[in-house]
Formats: sequence, C-alpha cells, structure tokens
Amino acid sequence: MTVVLETIPAARRWVRAERSAGQTVGFVPTMGAFHEGHLSLFRRARARCARVMVSVFVNPLQFGPGEDFERYPRDFSRDLALAEQEGVDAIFHPDAKEMYPEPQVITVDPGPLGQLLCGRSRPGHFPGVATVVAKLLNILEPDRVFFGQKDAQQAVIIERMIGELGFPVEMEVCPTVREPDGLALSSRNAYLSPEERARATVLYRSLCQAATLIRSGIRDVPRVEREMRELIAAIPGADLDYASVVDRRTLEGVSTIDREVLIAVAVRFGKTRLIDNIVLDVKDEQVREIPAIS
Ligand code: AMP
Repeated sequence: MTVVLETIPAARRWVRAERSAGQTVGFVPTMGAFHEGHLSLFRRARARCARVMVSVFVNPLQFGPGEDFERYPRDFSRDLALAEQEGVDAIFHPDAKEMYPEPQVITVDPGPLGQLLCGRSRPGHFPGVATVVAKLLNILEPDRVFFGQKDAQQAVIIERMIGELGFPVEMEVCPTVREPDGLALSSRNAYLSPEERARATVLYRSLCQAATLIRSGIRDVPRVEREMRELIAAIPGADLDYASVVDRRTLEGVSTIDREVLIAVAVRFGKTRLIDNIVLDVKDEQVREIPAIS
C-alpha cells in the first residue's frame, strides 16, 4: 500500500519514523502525470533505498506568465495506481496552500546557471525549481534524491545547490527514457498533435547528428550548432529556441569540443516547448556518452 500524505508535518513524521527505524529513504520529486521516465526513477530509488517517497506537486513558482501551469496534466488517481504498482511507499501530495501558505518571499537563486539555456526564455523557472526542491529536501530530509538526465540543466543546478548550501543528501541522476523513435518521454508530449508528435523526433535526431559529427573528428562548436539548427529548421512547425554545445558543469558556451560537453536543444511546436540533451566526454580522439552527473 502506498501511503498518501497531504501535509508537511505528516510527510516529515513519516520520513523521520522510517529513518529512526534504520531505513534509508529515497526521494523522487515530480509534478505527476507519470510516464516511464518517472517510473525509471522510482525503480532506481527502490533498488538503492529501503523506502521510497515520491512527491507530486505542480509547482506554481516554476511556471512563468503565459506558460502551461493551468493546463499541465493532472491525474492523481492514475499516478497513485502506478506508484502502487511500482512499490512506492509514500506519496507527498500537498496543495499549493500547504506548500506556500503565504507568498514565498525567500527564494533560492541559482545565479548565472539559471539564466543560460532554458533560463533565457524562462527567466523565473530555475529559481522556482531550486526553491521548491530546497523546501522539499528540508521538509523530508531523505537520504538520497533522484532526478532525470532529461532535465540536465535542472540536475546541474540542484547538484550545485546541494553542494554549495550543504544539504545532507546524496543525489543521483538517471538516464533519459525515450520512445522507440528516440523522443524523450515528457508529460508535455501529450499536448502534441499526431503530426507534431511525428516531427518532434527532430530533437533527438539533431543530438545524434551532433554526436556523429563529433565522432567523425569535428571539434568546432559553431559548425556543430549550425548543422543542428539546419536540421531543425527543415521541419515544418519546429520553432527553435536553442541548439547549444556547452561546458557540462558551468553550462557556458565553448568554442572547441575538448572536454565533457552538454549538447542541449529546445524546440517549440505551437505552444508546446520540448527539450532534450546528451552529454559527451571528448578527450583527444575518444568520444564517450556519459550521464549528466556521475
Ligand atoms: P517532472 O514531473 O517532469 O518534473 O519530472 C520529474 C523527474 O522525472 C525529473 O527529475 C525529470 O528529470 C525526470 N524525468 C522526466 N522525463 C524523464 C525521462 N524521459 N527520462 C528520465 N527521467 C525523466
């Protein structure tokens, strides 16, 4: 049975009771609308920890004006059934009043890391993410917390926040789960029309194209980025936000590929904004794909 906890004190009590009974607690923060990407994190947490807690909270702080907060998919009974199937022990499911009884005056600012890549077109997004994750970690005090590589910038920012602010938790990043045609699973894929869904494979194809160029010996970033942009521009309805090769940890642009790089894309189809990425470790002739954080 999966226990559902709706208040901060109840969730905190649950984790504390488990930990004082000697159990390790793994925590997976989510916004619900579960898909195989979420389930892969639950399985990883299950494998690593004696108890698994998942949070389901569509965090208003991380949505900008005009973004999809109102229409974001919500189906708690389906999520609960999936969590039960996966052996999740507890779900923390607070409402917005429980998490933010008053306007949140104190927020966590990820600095320049929050302003690059997705931060350029979503200025308040990463402060919103960092604030809610900090709050959840303080409420729950888990032993380990699990994130997906799909949201690579989020993973980099949270890793930095945990390190710099001294949160007593271990973090793990799990690989991106994809559809057979390469499209990264996302709750937002549900917004796509069948035509857009077919075209959305261009995100992963552009990443594969970049990897192929790099494996063939090309190290020039403007060239790789240009080829990605051209591939995306050829798809009707694909509105490019960015296609960038950056330093994996600082997220800053590089001109030559000679280190661990994050190759990241963001593309809009109508109102739906999709992201994807891969990480390559490039040393001399060797090119290796690696998780966002190891
Ligand atoms: P969300 O509910 O979209 O906030 O995602 C919750 C967690 O699931 C985040 O750590 C995401 O990075 C992760 N996630 C989302 N999509 C995928 C995917 N396709 N593969 C792996 N992890 C994912």
